Amino acid sequence: MSTSEQLQKRCVIVGGGPAGMMAGYLLARAGVPVAVLEKHADFFRDFRGDTIHPSTLELMHELGLLEEFLKQPHQEVRELRAVVNGQAVPIGDFSKLPTRCKFIAFMPQWDFLNFLSSHAKRFPTFQLCMQTEVVDLLLANKRVIGVRAKTPSGELDFHADLVIGADGRHSIVHMRAGLNLLEFGVPVDVLWMRISKKQPDPGQTLGFFQHGKLLVLLDRGDYWQCGFVIPKGGFDQIKTRGLPQFQNEIVSFAGFLRDRVSELDDWSKIKLLTVQINRLRDWCREGLLCIGDSAHAMSPAGGVGINLAIQDAVATANLLAEKLRNGPVSVDDLRQVQLRREWPTRLIQGMQVFVHQRVVTGRASGNKESLPFIVRLLKWFPILRQLPARFIGIGPRPEHFHSPPVV
Ligand SMILES: Cc1cc2nc3c(=O)[nH]c(=O)nc-3n(C[C@H](O)[C@H](O)[C@H](O)COP(=O)(O)OP(=O)(O)OC[C@H]3O[C@@H](n4cnc5c(N)ncnc54)[C@H](O)[C@@H]3O)c2cc1C
Repeated sequence: MSTSEQLQKRCVIVGGGPAGMMAGYLLARAGVPVAVLEKHADFFRDFRGDTIHPSTLELMHELGLLEEFLKQPHQEVRELRAVVNGQAVPIGDFSKLPTRCKFIAFMPQWDFLNFLSSHAKRFPTFQLCMQTEVVDLLLANKRVIGVRAKTPSGELDFHADLVIGADGRHSIVHMRAGLNLLEFGVPVDVLWMRISKKQPDPGQTLGFFQHGKLLVLLDRGDYWQCGFVIPKGGFDQIKTRGLPQFQNEIVSFAGFLRDRVSELDDWSKIKLLTVQINRLRDWCREGLLCIGDSAHAMSPAGGVGINLAIQDAVATANLLAEKLRNGPVSVDDLRQVQLRREWPTRLIQGMQVFVHQRVVTGRASGNKESLPFIVRLLKWFPILRQLPARFIGIGPRPEHFHSPPVV
């Protein structure tokens, strides 16, 4: 491949996460010359969600990929269960969803991204550049005309009619573009670690809730990926109390981990993830559009961030692919994407802020009720479990792909 080919594209996407890879796949499928630039050498990183929701599975069906996709190793969760103050309770029932797949597929995100990229590479207009870290935007008369990236062979400028920022919650694209960010305070952070899995551990649940605290366990085959919610800024205090106390606390949520919690024998095995919820006031300017966490950082609450990022990518392709195939798009075209995706984002972020302020605060709440009222309602009236299933599994305003492939 010659350097000049690398330097000029119709569209350059910064970030090969769920939003960037799906947007790259869909635009290439519609015949748009597109390059996805990803700073890492591979997709194998731990700090990712593993949930593929019914609406994303529906999209895979619309794209003719579902059958092959479901051959990838995954677990199918048809009912969301949680352990709340020691009692196992059903929270969501996916069996009545109006979708082909009535389950959430748990699949390591790297497998999902590898699957998408291997299919995208079949389109001649698709290019994936790994180890390509965008360090700046290129501007001409206030219009974004491309990006500058660090690559193993030095710095490269990628010129494009449209730059899509899909570089996640620490987005350099939105920072360099000077887009205004609205921050919604989140009172929690997450400690992220792994503990081995044994027979007969219980199956996948939503998590273990205890009076304002939460331990999430994601089944990764031979180990549990654990997320423990703590008060924001509270990690140093936890360290001061010492590892044995921390291990005991984990065991108080999930007693079956008692015989192996000592695997957490060094603080370096426990990583701090800061949780953010924010949203750009404007998701675009001339030559630039931000989508996914780059436009709206999501907390892990509800496990909906990946789904939302993918929905943004679908809306982007639906609204822009045909125009982009023929030339540059105007800022009014780009605004249509924000107009379509902003209210579902607001609704979901509103739910997440509520959950963090009122339900999972990371601090022990004084509430001695064995089960909160809303959880008791879900336990007593099975029909109500369809509501959380719909909100989490499909979400507000699901997108359907309708931009035809080029022949
Ligand atoms: C602890 C935690 C757990 C979560 N669990 C879940 C879950 O279970 N389910 C769920 O749906 N959501 C979950 N979320 C939210 C979810 O991770 C995000 O909402 C989702 O990943 C957003 O996708 P994205 O493609 O917009 O961004 P990201 O997934 O962040 O992808 C951005 C990509 O851009 C790349 N990149 C960044 N900067 C550059 C650069 N300068 N140049 C080139 N590439 C760059 C990154 O390497 C990355 O690959 C969780 C979040 C956290 C913090």
